[in-house]
Amino acid sequence: MRAIERIVVRAPNWLGDAVLSLPAVRDVRRNFPGARMEVLARPWVAPLYGSVGEVDAVRESRSVRADADTLRGAFDAAVLLPNSFASALSMWRAGIPERWGFATDLRRPLLTRGPRVPASVRGRSQVYYYRAMLEGVGLDVSTEADPSLRCPDDWAAQGASRLGAERAPWIGLNPGAFFGSAKRWVPERYAAAGELLARSMAARVAILGGADERPLGEAIAAAMRAPARMLCGETTLPELVGVLSRLRLLVTNDSGPMHVAAALGVPVVAVFGPTDWRETAPVGRRHRLLREPVHCAPCMLRECPIDHRCMTRISVDRVVDEARALLDEA
Ligand code: SF4
Repeated sequence: MRAIERIVVRAPNWLGDAVLSLPAVRDVRRNFPGARMEVLARPWVAPLYGSVGEVDAVRESRSVRADADTLRGAFDAAVLLPNSFASALSMWRAGIPERWGFATDLRRPLLTRGPRVPASVRGRSQVYYYRAMLEGVGLDVSTEADPSLRCPDDWAAQGASRLGAERAPWIGLNPGAFFGSAKRWVPERYAAAGELLARSMAARVAILGGADERPLGEAIAAAMRAPARMLCGETTLPELVGVLSRLRLLVTNDSGPMHVAAALGVPVVAVFGPTDWRETAPVGRRHRLLREPVHCAPCMLRECPIDHRCMTRISVDRVVDEARALLDEA
């Protein structure tokens, strides 16, 4: 094999997966300390990798053809974190000599190293899925996984600007989830939990989410007596990271912001329903994961076909008590 002096890591497409890929990105750096390492990422997650010190540069992924054109002749090796055929095809079309990733989605012929997904990663955090792939292609992953994220100063300033000049501590509520309504805890309970926590902590509440989640955020704000800062659809990724970095506490569903906050070291109370808590739990030590052990979970469905008991059986008091216990620990 030729010397690897320039290496590109194709990043996962979703924010939560991107956060959980950070240990693998650092593993690649440790294996190739003198190489130039770039990350190819979809535009909505690309800024995240720009904040990681181990990464030399970030390129935006647009399409198979555009990616192949921009990568041609620029790299000796490509590491594919997504499982998709398209991610391997772009590296193959770019003529990158070494192409490494799991042999998924019928792409084995496009890879120069393509191990199968080992059974040992089932039921473990996505962090170990990515690291198992690196181990399978022959890289050393023996050091402890480092999932941390540092908020750059200018992002923290942008977050502070979004929250405003008030000096009170902030609690974040993240009531949405892109995957579907089944992942959402009950909106009225978000409002009640936010109200109780804000009162006991003398804190203000910020409601986070995307533009599509704004009606949901507004309904929660309307159900609260204290005014809440509505940020749904108003933050870029750097601003969102900046806001999260300034929170005293985040109450959230299983979502990308949950992973970002946990990686930043912000205390997180995460309410889980239909998704697999073993694979997508937040990383780090400052979080509490709440779930109800119903027989049908994890169903991985977008919409609940029955009565949404995995979420409706989680009470406001339980969330508030966990949040207080977590903050007492901190
Ligand atoms: S089927 Fe069960 S686990 Fe799935 S969303 Fe409904 S209550 Fe939750």
